[in-house]
Amino acid sequence: MHIERIPAWLADTNAYLVVSDDGQGLLVDAPPDPELIGTHIARLDVAVVALLLTHGHVDHSGGAGGLAEKTGAVTYVHPDDDFLTLHPIEQLRRMWGMEPPGSYEVPAAMESLHHGQVLELAGISVEVRHTPGHTPGHCCFWWEAEGVLFSGDQLFAGSIGRFDLPGGSGPDLYKSMREQVMTLDDEVLVLPGHGSETTIGRERATNPFRGEWS
Ligand SMILES: [Zn+2]
Ligand SMILES: [Zn+2]
Repeated sequence: MHIERIPAWLADTNAYLVVSDDGQGLLVDAPPDPELIGTHIARLDVAVVALLLTHGHVDHSGGAGGLAEKTGAVTYVHPDDDFLTLHPIEQLRRMWGMEPPGSYEVPAAMESLHHGQVLELAGISVEVRHTPGHTPGHCCFWWEAEGVLFSGDQLFAGSIGRFDLPGGSGPDLYKSMREQVMTLDDEVLVLPGHGSETTIGRERATNPFRGEWS
């Protein structure tokens, strides 16, 4: 089992390519640079079967259409983020007032995620934890066998996701933290949507926002 972190596009969004021992894999998040991600897929010789999107912000989802077409992988995202996932160009205009270089194709078909769902993909079993707050449909992916949480824009090393964008909610984000994230053990490795990895224990002890959820 191998996890490749691929920071991509102008927001330095982390895509994680998870590769199983038999060469199948899944991708957590799809920044709008399918070419770059494609070179890593080719180098590692992975048959990508699924794209798991933590949420619908364009820096995490914009590359899904291009990658789905290139790999034949199925895209999974929570339907509460459809107002974002299905409208990448509107997001770009609203957030940047322009359309920066990138690929923003919406996948032809997408599967809906829901809380508590267990996905068995590429020999890997991940549990979906719906964690609204940063966006209404944000999900974290809990890979219990390896003790890894893909936290998207919910939790970062030393920070948390912003909740001032459309559909965001501070109370929801802190509730998600309390009920879905901080219930995990200290040793759990957290792989966030931006920046470097951390652990649940480190964030529980030192995150500057910890007083808001405890
Ligand atoms: Zn986001
Ligand atoms: Zn992000």
